[in-house]
Amino acid sequence: MAAIADSLNPRTTEYQFFGPPGALLVTITSPLIAYALYFGCSEESGGCPPGNLAAWISSVTSSITRVDWWAGLWDTEATAIYLTWHLFCVVAWAVLPGDDFQGVHMRNGQRKTYKVNGFATFICATGIAVAMIVYRGVESFTFLYRKWIGFLTASLLLSVIQAVYVYLTSFQPGKLLSLGGNTGNPAYDFFMGRELNPSIGSLDLKYFNELRPSMILWGLIDISMVCEQAVRRGGLTKVTDSMWLVLGFHLFYIADSLYNETAVFTVMDITTDGLGFMLVFGCLCWIPFVYSLQARYLVFQQLEMGTLKVGLVLLVNGIGYYIFRTANGEKNDFRNGKNPKNLKYMKTERESKLLITGWWGRSRHPNYLGDVIMALAWSLPTGFNTPITYFYVIYFSILLLHRERRDNEHCAQKYGKDWERYTKLVPYRIVPYIY
Ligand code: NDP
Repeated sequence: MAAIADSLNPRTTEYQFFGPPGALLVTITSPLIAYALYFGCSEESGGCPPGNLAAWISSVTSSITRVDWWAGLWDTEATAIYLTWHLFCVVAWAVLPGDDFQGVHMRNGQRKTYKVNGFATFICATGIAVAMIVYRGVESFTFLYRKWIGFLTASLLLSVIQAVYVYLTSFQPGKLLSLGGNTGNPAYDFFMGRELNPSIGSLDLKYFNELRPSMILWGLIDISMVCEQAVRRGGLTKVTDSMWLVLGFHLFYIADSLYNETAVFTVMDITTDGLGFMLVFGCLCWIPFVYSLQARYLVFQQLEMGTLKVGLVLLVNGIGYYIFRTANGEKNDFRNGKNPKNLKYMKTERESKLLITGWWGRSRHPNYLGDVIMALAWSLPTGFNTPITYFYVIYFSILLLHRERRDNEHCAQKYGKDWERYTKLVPYRIVPYIY
């Protein structure tokens, strides 16, 4: 392996997430939240939130103080299915056709080559699900609902294994490290990710995790929720409009992300962050099992919305999507050497230029605004009986507010005075004229 000059891997001297205590706290609490969202919002625990809180607290307390507390979280069959699913994603990546795509220039001057066949993997995976439903009935695809906790545990275990693996292998010589995860503090670096692009053979783990075992599984989970509701209501034609709406929104977002897979090569996760517990757990566990909460809720709270409400929610989602896609498209085109809308840009001392008209002239993260509007539209079909199904939009807003600050710091460091100039030209962070 070619040596990497020490100057290319400087020590990280500034902490994010309130340093090691913050990183440790998020590492421990994120899995607990993923479990809590199930145990605090499911039929098994008596509703969302549980109807009888005192009984719920006493049942949770007695479960976690038992010697075999873990037994209720473990499901061998679910673990086997989950690992098979993961293997399917790897095999699909290896065998399905796809163009090679050159990622952005890294600090060592090199560019990674990625195989773009995420959308083909998505079509195969959903095709298998649809074939199962058509030939074996809706009951055959309800296992993701019925074995939820087993699958959640399996994904958490794989996240821990992968995060430990990439942390340990990052100490091998010749690795290009991330600028933000090389402090020397194990808890912090484990969370943030030391190595920039860990790979097994030619499989880049970060790019692989980002869209395949995360987004595609999220879509499959939603399909399973529709099947479970169909079983309970007497067929797919009886599934509620709210459930179809959530499925449609999520599947559209997922299909769109995979169809535009090359856009992922300019996002912060790929270009800047290392692969650590934050990204591994986020992709393998959090996205599929937390983002599908609304669909899971609608299995046991079967709400009909009616045409007017459906139309309004569609409109909210449409506005969010338009902002999200056009903003990301403008930047992605620009970073890949194209500028079809002839947008104005400013030169910087670095090789890359910054857009100053179009969406990136209105705010410094217009794409986040679109994403949050969509997140709201995905929660609205669950009605207003519980705040829990709005967890996604609240959490996501906090994540993006924090992410904007992180990216701002990163750009300030990267562009120096040019970034100051840009922030004067584009003073709003996310919402034009407001924030
Ligand atoms: P962004 O796509 O917002 O990219 C930020 C980078 O863009 C900066 O670091 C900078 O990189 C470049 N940039 C900044 N300003 C300009 C400009 N004026 N002109 C050209 N380039 C500019 O990063 P994210 O990775 O945060 O977000 C990508 C998408 O993913 C967003 O839509 C976001 O909402 C979504 N997302 C979704 C999540 C989910 O869980 N669903 C989680 C996180 C993000 P440089 O100059 O170095 O190229």
